[in-house]
Formats: sequence, structure tokens, C-alpha cells
Amino acid sequence: MRYVSTRGQSPSVGFTDAVLGGLAPDGGLYVPEDWPTFTRDEIAAFAGLPYAKVAAKVLGKFAGDEISAADMLAMCEEAYATFSHKAVVPMVQIGPQSFIAELFHGPSLAFKDVAMQILARLYDHLLGAQGRKQTILCATSGDTGGAAVEAFRGAKNVRVVAMFPEGRISEVQRRFMTTAEEDNIACLAVKGTFDDCQAILKDAFQDQALRQAVDLAAVNSINFARIAAQAVYYFTTAAALGAPDRLVNFVVPSGNFGDAFAGYVARRMGLPIKRIVVATNANDILARAFETGRYARGTVQPTLSPAMDIQSASNFERLYFEGVQREPAETARAFEAFGKTGVIDIPPVALSAMQAVFTGVAIGEDETVRTIVATLNETGELIDPHTAVAVAALRHVTLEGPTVVLSTAHPAKFPEDVAKASGVEPGLPRGVGSLAHRPERFDRLPGEADTIKAYVRAFAER
Ligand SMILES: *Cc1c(COP(=O)(O)O)cnc(C)c1O
Repeated sequence: MRYVSTRGQSPSVGFTDAVLGGLAPDGGLYVPEDWPTFTRDEIAAFAGLPYAKVAAKVLGKFAGDEISAADMLAMCEEAYATFSHKAVVPMVQIGPQSFIAELFHGPSLAFKDVAMQILARLYDHLLGAQGRKQTILCATSGDTGGAAVEAFRGAKNVRVVAMFPEGRISEVQRRFMTTAEEDNIACLAVKGTFDDCQAILKDAFQDQALRQAVDLAAVNSINFARIAAQAVYYFTTAAALGAPDRLVNFVVPSGNFGDAFAGYVARRMGLPIKRIVVATNANDILARAFETGRYARGTVQPTLSPAMDIQSASNFERLYFEGVQREPAETARAFEAFGKTGVIDIPPVALSAMQAVFTGVAIGEDETVRTIVATLNETGELIDPHTAVAVAALRHVTLEGPTVVLSTAHPAKFPEDVAKASGVEPGLPRGVGSLAHRPERFDRLPGEADTIKAYVRAFAER
């Protein structure tokens, strides 16, 4: 399987380089040269299989001959054994035709674990085969850092430096990073804001000497392996609800558009998905784009669903590329212009292709809170604010057939807001309870790029 850049100016690469490389050198995103497919019988057979087996089959299509089927299955089994629920992604019913798929049973209680757990194993495997060691630098405003630390702790060929703005993330979020004991993990409390952390990250990636010295890598959601790993639960949930004989809809709480785009990937692979509803909070760039055809950056507003406080959705470039019939020159033109102007007017043909699959819905803060209360009253399920945005969106659209709402975070990850909305204090699941008592380990540094780069170098060269 070869991967091409959406901007067409870099050579095609294999799975290993697409995964380890992250962004293509021309600034584009990697996508498979052709979409691999499953037959209807193969999809029907997923209904009876354990999650890890389906994951190995889906990811195997993307890895091609670069990873053996036995190695892939072993990595998937190990990755999904870290989940606290035997089904990995179980479903609960919340209405006659609506179901919640719980993506939050991983070690850091956020859906980022689903992709990050397998990504860590893929990295260690692929790097080991090349005799390489990489250093992952990440800046987190919440969930990504915890998921990355949980996934990569103990990895042989990867070290992680996780930066977070001191005092600006929740205690639960911080503890998921700082209580890791393994010495390939370093956590940094940076004096400053999340934007300061991101500026430092950017500076580090532009420093060629540092990049080479420590083999710097990123694990953000532009990595195609994360998208591929997220396509898996579209297959398992749809098959459980009768696909391919029944068409299934999905509602996806969205920020960077990685999760919803994974649904599009599953559809291209042969899964009969009828509609994908992209649910956003007040940061509604995607909802506006699908409705009006104008993809235009706005100013970020803080909301109750902070993981979705994004006004430029990096994975949208992948959908645009498909919408313009995989025309790389047009994709490069549009996204280079977007970098300067913050606006893309989607060509009519591309827009109608997008609207044939996607509907965008933006949900305000009051409605999010009301939905947490209503869902508890009507179903007994306590949901987090990100999931509530998606459940609320369900009421704004008319869908035929079964619908799966993706639940992206455990309510205990946002205890204050959930308790304030519902009057019920969400408890941490078994096993995670000890988080509050485990010793923390992190360093504090001023928000200066040079100081932090020196720290990363010293950590990698120990
Ligand atoms: C990351 C995240 C999202 C958004 O997913 P995207 O792939 O960025 O659209 C939604 N909810 C939670 C809890 C998240 O952590």
C-alpha cells in the first residue's frame, strides 16, 4: 500500500514512512493511493469477532506487506487488552433507534486511547525494525498528552516529552501524565498558556539540528494510522446493528475532524453508512462549511467541551482532496491560500459530494447542559459534555434507521461540569481510582523555547 500527499509535491511512501513521517514534506497529509475494500460477507463476519481481530483486519489492509498478519494481530491484542471493558467499545441504547458507542474505556478515559494504544505499538515495532529511536514532543491542553503517555510508557524505541501549561489543565488530566513511572516519559509544566506551548512545539520542529539530534516526532491527529485505527469501531458497531444489510448513521462530536473522517474512510472501504452527522460546539467551522460551502476560520471560544475548541480542522484537507476528485494541485492551492486568508470556498461539485454524506450541526452551551440532564432523566446514562453535544445534534436531524452516537470521554474526566449540570457526581471507574494517590513526577520550566529545547535534548541523550 502506497501513500500520496494531498498536495502532490512529495513522492509517495509506504505505510512505515507515512506513519513515522506524520506530515508529508510538501505540507500535505498522507492518504492511501487507493481505498482498500471489504466484501459484504467480510463485513457481516465482523459481527462475531473480538474487537482486536477486526482492528487487525482493518489495519492490515493499510499496512499491506510491511507488517505480517501475526505481528499486527499481536499488537492489536496487546493494545486493546489495556481497555477496562471486555467489548473494548461497548454500546448502550438511548432510544428506539439510537445507541451510544462508548469509546472511553481506555487507560486515560478518552477516545484518543483507541488510536494511541495501537499507534504506540506500531511505532515501537516499525522503529525497532529500523534500529531507530524517536523522541515524541507533544503539547497538550487536555486529553492528547494523557493518552500519549499512557500508550508510550515503557516503549523501547520511543521517548515522550509531554508539555502542559501549568495550572491550566484539570487535576485528573495532569495526573494521567505525571503519575507514569517509566523513565522514557518526561512531563513538563510550562509557565504560560497552551498557545505558548504550541509555539514552543512549532519552534522545536523548525529547529533542524534538534530534529536530527533527537529524531523528533509528533503524534497529532494528522497521522494516518490514527485515522485507520478509528475506522475500526465504525465497522464493529455497524456490524453489530445489522450492517451490511442495514444502513447505519453516525453522530460524531468533532474538533479536528479525525474521528468523523474515519467514518468516511470506513464508508469508502465498503461499510454502508448512510449519514455522518458532524456535531460541533460553538467552534463551528465544520458545521458552517457543510451548510454554507464556506470553510472559514473563526476565533476560538472556550466551551464545556474543550477537546473540540478548534477553529481549523486539520483533517478537513483529506476530505477536500476527495471532494475535488483527488486533484492535488487544487488541494494545495486551497490550503496554501487558507493558511494566509483563513477561508476556502468549496467548489459546488465538491460541496455536493460532501453533503451527500455529511451534515453539520452546531450546539450551544445551554443545550449541551440541558442534554446532559435530559439524557440522565430519560435513559439513566450520565454523559460527558463532548458526548452531550452529539446527543443534542441527534435532535436536530431526521435520520432513517439505526444511529450510533460516538461517546468520546468518560464523564469522570469532567467531574465539575457534569456534576453542575446533572447534580450527580461521576465516579472514576475501578482501577483508575488510585490516580489521586499515586506520586507525581514532573519538571517546571519557563515558557522559553531555548530552555525547553535544551531539556528535550538532554532527556534524549541521557
Ligand atoms: C479529540 C476529541 C474530540 C474531537 O475529535 P476530532 O478527531 O479532533 O474531531 C472529541 N471529544 C473528545 C473527548 C476528544 O478528546
